[in-house]
Amino acid sequence: MIPFIDLRPQNEPLRSELEAALGRVLDSGAYTLGPEVAAFEQEFADWCGVPHAVAMNSGTAALHLALLAAGIGPGDDVVTTPFSFIATACAIRYAGANPVFADIDFATRNLDPEAAAKALTPRTRAILPVHLYGQTADMDPLRALAQQHGLAVIEDAAQAHGASYRGAPAGGLGVLGCFSFYPTKNLGALGEGGLVTTRDAALADALRSLRDWGAREKYQHEIVAHNARMDAFQGAALRVKLRRLTAWNEERRAIAARYEELLPGIGLEPPLEAPGCKHVWHVYTVCVPERERVAAGLREQGIGSAVVYPRPLHLQPAFADLGLGAGSFPNAERAARELLGLPMYPGLPADGPERVVAALGKALRL
Ligand SMILES: *Cc1c(COP(=O)(O)O)cnc(C)c1O
Repeated sequence: MIPFIDLRPQNEPLRSELEAALGRVLDSGAYTLGPEVAAFEQEFADWCGVPHAVAMNSGTAALHLALLAAGIGPGDDVVTTPFSFIATACAIRYAGANPVFADIDFATRNLDPEAAAKALTPRTRAILPVHLYGQTADMDPLRALAQQHGLAVIEDAAQAHGASYRGAPAGGLGVLGCFSFYPTKNLGALGEGGLVTTRDAALADALRSLRDWGAREKYQHEIVAHNARMDAFQGAALRVKLRRLTAWNEERRAIAARYEELLPGIGLEPPLEAPGCKHVWHVYTVCVPERERVAAGLREQGIGSAVVYPRPLHLQPAFADLGLGAGSFPNAERAARELLGLPMYPGLPADGPERVVAALGKALRL
């Protein structure tokens, strides 16, 4: 049995360290924000090479409050990809703005800069690229576009902790970088968590206010803000796990390298690591014909797989009001139809890629 994902090999070896960290919080009496979260913010900022990090209670809150901090609101358009998790587009709506989708480049699964350029409207105020599956979007042309039109670039880096673009880290590629620590992410909490990175001290300040009721002084509320504080247990656990993140990402890269060697042997093309991009393989996908049949064939052989994501955002009932039908974004629709995620996680058995690819070859021939 090889599941699609298993978090136990990651967390079990850390059990005594995690228990000690959680115990410290229990004893401290400080259960939200506090010294553990502040220390985690500094350590994560250092790890990303970005000066400021503001922890949140989810990646969704990170996106929502980053948009608010950037001044995005009602009447504004935000250009983004239709091939992402729903949170990306929902956050734009929470800010009162309108998501404007532009198609992806099929090879990288990320927002296509040319399509983004065509999607700009007079109301566009920001571009929100997603570093999908752990690979950064093609940031140079997106940033050039933003600069030319005076737009903010906000990264959805929820799947890309440790990824880089031309040597620069995800989270430092736009004005604001949004991370999630949902348990399955490359850095996962023992519950929910998120964070925003920025080089701009004033934006960091605004985010601290937005996440904690707009009160720099207790009970003095300057704005109608939010409760998006990270809880201290998550901060403490994330500090323990952050120390392993570089090694875990290297392990993911080694698994991807092994898949890349093996897949051509069964006639499948490995996914692209684009030139200049360091991929951290949050999800490893292959393009297979008759996907449901192949997934069933894998399941029969005890191999997990998953479709991430089966329906692009413009075809979700939640965004039906945009009036975008099938055929609007052919690359995103193809990705949603054909990609299958293979087992990819730190602690995957050493012979995992061989067993997965052998089973996949068999499933394709069935
Ligand atoms: C996980 C994820 C989010 C949302 O993060 P949560 O912590 O679950 O709120 C947003 N965008 C992308 C691309 C994600 O993968």
